[in-house]
Amino acid sequence: AQTPVKVTVTGAAGQIGYALLFRIASGQLLGADVPVKLSLLEIPQAVKAAEGTAMELDDCAFPLLSGIEITDDADKAFDGANVALLVGAMPRKAGMERGDLLQANGGIFGPQGKAINDNAAGDIRVLVVGNPANTNALIAQQHAPDVPAERFTAMTRLDHNRALSQLAAKLQVPVTEVKKMTIWGNHSATQYPDLFHAEVGGKVAAEQVDETWLRDTFIPTVAKRGAAIIEARGASSAASAANAAIDHVFDWVNGTEWTSAAIPSDGSYGVPEGLISSFPVASRNGKWEIIQGLEIDAFSRERIDASVRELEEERAAVRELGLI
Ligand code: NDP
Repeated sequence: AQTPVKVTVTGAAGQIGYALLFRIASGQLLGADVPVKLSLLEIPQAVKAAEGTAMELDDCAFPLLSGIEITDDADKAFDGANVALLVGAMPRKAGMERGDLLQANGGIFGPQGKAINDNAAGDIRVLVVGNPANTNALIAQQHAPDVPAERFTAMTRLDHNRALSQLAAKLQVPVTEVKKMTIWGNHSATQYPDLFHAEVGGKVAAEQVDETWLRDTFIPTVAKRGAAIIEARGASSAASAANAAIDHVFDWVNGTEWTSAAIPSDGSYGVPEGLISSFPVASRNGKWEIIQGLEIDAFSRERIDASVRELEEERAAVRELGLI
């Protein structure tokens, strides 16, 4: 039988964790024929809740789930890990300055990066979901000098999926008709969902909607969808975030011709090298590749630059705080 793939999930007792773990255990993260071993990392006060979730996982009798371990020790949690989903993070609280937020997350993602560096399997792939995701991924990556930088990624797939769904609804087509969608930049309100390269029915999407809708409805709806869900549900999106994490890792491992992911920049499209920024990507042979050769017009340039500037500011701030 195949050796199980070890998947470590941090913040496992949280809302996203609850929506994520059952899908991983059922085979949706890696494939219906790949056995998995779950490792749940939590802070000490949430370990008991994680144990409760583990009991429910047991009660599903998932054929692919070969074991569950639960710990508050990062070295143990990442020992031999093949996939790490870093979900647990310090949320922004009212009145919190950006510096405080970055400091708190530096205290989480720095040590986790080091624990990954020291303990994970040689093929470790890391997806950061916890916000501020791009910069948390950068912090973790900077503490893992022995792991290839490209293995550290942050999630913009939920933004991507939101963009697919909004555009499909507007044009009244199934989501499967929308191709080549791209989210650029930071997973934040500055992100840029790009309809100038997206296609519907083989034609450029931007040409099938009016400019006012694109600028004043589409872009802000995608970028502010998280807040709209909190407003409607009274709680953050969780199942859709978990779904996007599943999509990201599945495509990374199994391949795709086009999606969005935040990966370390190689300088493509004027994004400074090393920033973990969202790009149009393909996945081939288990590696993300930035899709090259797209023409960027002035409208897109301005928006990509604004989001990338924010990432540069976050990087400068964590450098100043001594977090990287
Ligand atoms: P959630 O599971 O709802 O969210 C976890 C993180 O995901 C947050 O940082 C959240 O950011 C982020 N996120 C990214 N995209 C989305 C999205 N589209 N919608 C919602 N959230 C998104 O948080 P909970 O508070 O329920 O659970 C967090 C758990 O993490 C707790 O159990 C806590 O104990 C644990 N934790 C574990 C740590 C560890 O393992 N060392 C460290 C810190 C916390 P945002 O805040 O911006 O919504």
